[in-house]
Parts: sequence; C-alpha cells; structure tokens
Amino acid sequence: MRTPYIGGNWKCNGTVESIKQLVQDLNQGPSTEGKVEVIVAPSSIHIGLVQSLNLRKDWKISAQNIVQEKNGGAFTGEISASMLKDLGIDSTLLGHSERRHVFGESNTVIAKKVKVSEEVGLTIIGCVGETLEERERGETNQVITSQLKDFNVTNWDKFVIAYEPVWAIGTGKTASPQQAQEAHKVLRDWLADNVNSEVAQKVRIIYGGSVNSANSDELIKQPDIDGFLVGGASLKSKDFLSIVNSGLKSVE
Ligand code: PEP
Repeated sequence: MRTPYIGGNWKCNGTVESIKQLVQDLNQGPSTEGKVEVIVAPSSIHIGLVQSLNLRKDWKISAQNIVQEKNGGAFTGEISASMLKDLGIDSTLLGHSERRHVFGESNTVIAKKVKVSEEVGLTIIGCVGETLEERERGETNQVITSQLKDFNVTNWDKFVIAYEPVWAIGTGKTASPQQAQEAHKVLRDWLADNVNSEVAQKVRIIYGGSVNSANSDELIKQPDIDGFLVGGASLKSKDFLSIVNSGLKSVE
C-alpha cells in the first residue's frame, strides 16, 4: 500500500495577503498525519513567508525548481538545492512542463538538477508528460518513458513521478481516469522492467492536469494513481482541501 502524495503547485501566483489567507484556510483542514503526504510549492519568493505563517505541521513546503549547480553561484535569478536545505525545505518539483516548454529546459539540464537534489537529499517530484501532438501521433508511452529514463534517478526512495499530460495542464481538460491509469501503468511497468519490481511497487506516481474537486475521487480510485499534482485548484483552499480529502478517503 503506497501512501498517497498530493502536491499544490502555486506556480508564479500570490500576494502577501492572498497567501496569508490561503495558509490560514488550509490550516483548518483535517489532519493528514500518517495517512496522506501533502506538500505545497509556493513561488521561491514566498517560501519564507509560508514558513513564517506556520503552515500546518503535517504538510511540507516544496520548491518549484532549482538551479543545476548544487551550491549555486553566478546564476542570476535562480535558487540552489543547498539554499533550500539551509532553509529546511526538503523537496522540489523538477521537469515541470512549463520549465520544459516555456523555459526550454532539456532532459540533460533536468538530469543535472536530479543529481544535485540527490546529493543534497531533496525529495524530487519529477514531471513527465506528452504534448497533444505526441499523443495524437501515438507517441505517449515512448515520450513519458524516455523522460523518466532521462532523469537518471539513482535514489528512488526520494522520487515521486508526476504524470502530467501537457494538454491537460491549466486547460480544464483532464485525462480520463482510464487514460491516466494507462499512462501510470506504462510508467510502473517501465520501473519494473528497468529498475526492479520492489521500486515499481513502492514509487508513487501522481497525476496532474486540471485536477479539481469534481474529478479527484474518480482519478484516485485507479490502481496506479497515487495522488495528484494540482495547479490552479491548489490556490483555492476549499478545492485543494477537497482534493486532499479524496486522498484521505482512498486510504480509509
Ligand atoms: C501543474 O501545475 O502541475 C498543473 C497540473 O496545473 P493545473 O492543475 O492547473 O492543470
């Protein structure tokens, strides 16, 4: 039995006031302790604010990205894995489709980020996903397994896979539970064939792409869907708590 994992990706959103309100509201939700792992990923400029607002202790704060050099240095505008550790942050998203497609991050750069995260001991939420064109050409399985391979993961204990079809992110189009399950199964089978069966059984594979309070119950019922990475709906406390509740119900 894998512990569900649910992440809220706040992307480049929020004001001091809106974040104060969001944290206050999220802190009111039922405890997830020992049942569901929950992280929220504020923009890096808001990480300290969320810490100072005393985000509930059963949830953790994650980063959205890091630079590929462990200790940073001359990388204007970036944040490093060591800085996160120093702040007490122990996870980061990597390879999000917006990093790949808007900022042109290659698999090679993402693999360097995986390496420094592993060196520093960060948990990684590594994102894979096909574009609509790739899906229509029948390339989904090949695209997502090669992205998974190209992370070059060496420590699967600290790796969560996020399957996020690019066509479903921020579009209001969700993969059907069957489409998502099919892709998650392909990723789990890849782990079994290329790593080992123990890792395949243990690694959490979470779904992202327009997850909301109306579709989370059905999605998490799928055997290979172990939680969610949530963008838009994670900025609305009621919706995010309801998605977290789908995780809680799945382990009842
Ligand atoms: C995401 O940011 O990872 C995401 C899935 O966004 P949304 O839920 O808004 O589609």
